[in-house]
Amino acid sequence: MVGVKIDLHTHSADSDGTESPADVARAARAAGLDVFALTDHDTTSGWKDAGDTAVALGVSFVPGMEISCTTEDGISVHLLSYLHDPADPQLLAEVESSRSSRLTRAERMVELLSEDYPIDWDVVREHVHEGATVGRPHIADALVSVGVVESRSAAFASVLSTRSRYYVPHYAPDPVHAVRLVRSAGGVPVFAHPLAAARGRVVGPEVFEAMIDAGLAGLEVAHRDNPDDARALLSRMASEHDLVVTGSSDYHGAGKPNRLGENLTSVQSLVRIEEQATSGVRVRHP
Ligand code: AMP
Ligand code: FE
Ligand code: FE
Ligand code: ZN
Repeated sequence: MVGVKIDLHTHSADSDGTESPADVARAARAAGLDVFALTDHDTTSGWKDAGDTAVALGVSFVPGMEISCTTEDGISVHLLSYLHDPADPQLLAEVESSRSSRLTRAERMVELLSEDYPIDWDVVREHVHEGATVGRPHIADALVSVGVVESRSAAFASVLSTRSRYYVPHYAPDPVHAVRLVRSAGGVPVFAHPLAAARGRVVGPEVFEAMIDAGLAGLEVAHRDNPDDARALLSRMASEHDLVVTGSSDYHGAGKPNRLGENLTSVQSLVRIEEQATSGVRVRHP
């Protein structure tokens, strides 16, 4: 089992990645992965295509999703869910609320940006795949296309930052509530890049404790946005509370520098995730 390459966090164009779900599976094969999870923001629409292509190419597929959450203090938290029932009514209702609020919010941000830059909603829409979860990365792509910035990263460092005058927040469920929803949908909740300070404010110990009490299964420790000292702290927290430790790339195709397989999850951790899933949704093997 040594040398099995498992990457549990990737995005397709069904959210803010740049490749179709099937192409993410092809990229996973090309990167030499044995197992990968597709975890688009607030949607499971890519599961079938990504899974079909993965198994046809000899790669195992873990169905997942990354749930946008916001604490009552307005801190953004991302919660990975693995192997949940994609039709669970309560979970579906929450992600649908986030998705529709994301759309209104993106339109509002574009309206504000259009006062100073040559951009409008039609330009942004060209960068959003049919039915995809809309986010700031799509606005970034539009800004790149009209020459306002050079890259998504440059857009996030300036006009799209949370501190920018064009920034507008969107509705998202509380992370403690989201942990409960994932568990009741039979899924396995893992806190994504929990101490990614460069993205904005991160939560304190009280939020970790409340999420753990609500049934949090694991922590994504090996992720490029968690600084080294934060990883050490997260590893200690994981052993103290017997949480599953994961590692992943958070691949977004050409949308981010993150490369498939740059961080990996152990076989033991994946087994523990599978053991905790109760929805009937399983890992798909070739
Ligand atoms: P949103 O959810 O619409 O507020 O936008 C946040 C999303 O933008 C996250 O899911 C990230 O994948 C992406 N993102 C954050 N920072 C960057 C960056 N510097 N470059 C490219 N994408 C980013
Ligand atoms: Fe993203
Ligand atoms: Fe995330
Ligand atoms: Zn992600």
